[in-house]
Amino acid sequence: MVPKNGHGPLGVHLGVGQRFDDAVAQAKLLGITCCQLFTHNPRGWGFAPLDEKSLAKFRDDLRKAGVSPVASHCNYLINLGSNAPDIRAKSLACFRQEFPYARAYGCGYFVLHVGKHKAQSLDDGIKNVAAGINSCKDVLLKYPEITLLLETVAGQGSEIGRDFNDLGTIIALVDKELRPRVGVCVDTCHVFAAGYDLRTPAGVDAAAKAMDAAFGLDRVKLIHLNDALKEFNSRVDRHQHIGEGFIGAAGFRAFLNHPVFKPLPKVLEVPEDEHMGYAENLAVVRKLQA
Ligand SMILES: [Zn+2]
Ligand SMILES: [Zn+2]
Repeated sequence: MVPKNGHGPLGVHLGVGQRFDDAVAQAKLLGITCCQLFTHNPRGWGFAPLDEKSLAKFRDDLRKAGVSPVASHCNYLINLGSNAPDIRAKSLACFRQEFPYARAYGCGYFVLHVGKHKAQSLDDGIKNVAAGINSCKDVLLKYPEITLLLETVAGQGSEIGRDFNDLGTIIALVDKELRPRVGVCVDTCHVFAAGYDLRTPAGVDAAAKAMDAAFGLDRVKLIHLNDALKEFNSRVDRHQHIGEGFIGAAGFRAFLNHPVFKPLPKVLEVPEDEHMGYAENLAVVRKLQA
């Protein structure tokens, strides 16, 4: 399906695994124009060997289907906010490996949960994240086609990135040469749970202004489009179908048609249940796009 006038690409988080042809068939069935995927098990440190032949076909098939951009999402174990030697070594090794895998899957973006500061202060956690990214400078320079996106978070526990300014500080601490390679992925559910009210046009506009002040709107490259299962400012990361959660249809209408967010690529990460799946959620979004 061709995106509506002025609206950016719209897609979903595609389950790929090793079933490349099935994933492409699903993309076509849903009529999506961008997507996100995991290049390896999101709950493990390991990476399966790259199936170069199948991946070349996969990249080609997605391109022919008009699915672009493609984003890779990090696994859930990476924590660059920690300075505990074991977790830090594993996180950095995994972070480095994500880039060649993202390239193999044809991704232009790699979305990172920056991590948790745990027993350390938030400031120390932020410094750990920036130092971690800087220590992988060689990898970022080796893969110039992949932009690293720091994701906004709900702020569960000691998660870093609840306040837009935390992401702004990380970017400011990143090596100057790498800074143009770092952007932001805005998740609507997380932002709302973190205390930025997206229920009205004025709220959406205020959130955009806060992003601009913290890191600059040019850095926002990708949107995770999710409604929130929990109330405003809950700090709980639980996604809901678009229009059925606490952000609601009016909030999404305001967000989707806001001049800043309208042209950006958006991927859904909503639950798939007997009530609604991706197809139904995409239909709701398309209806809300003016
Ligand atoms: Zn995420
Ligand atoms: Zn989430």
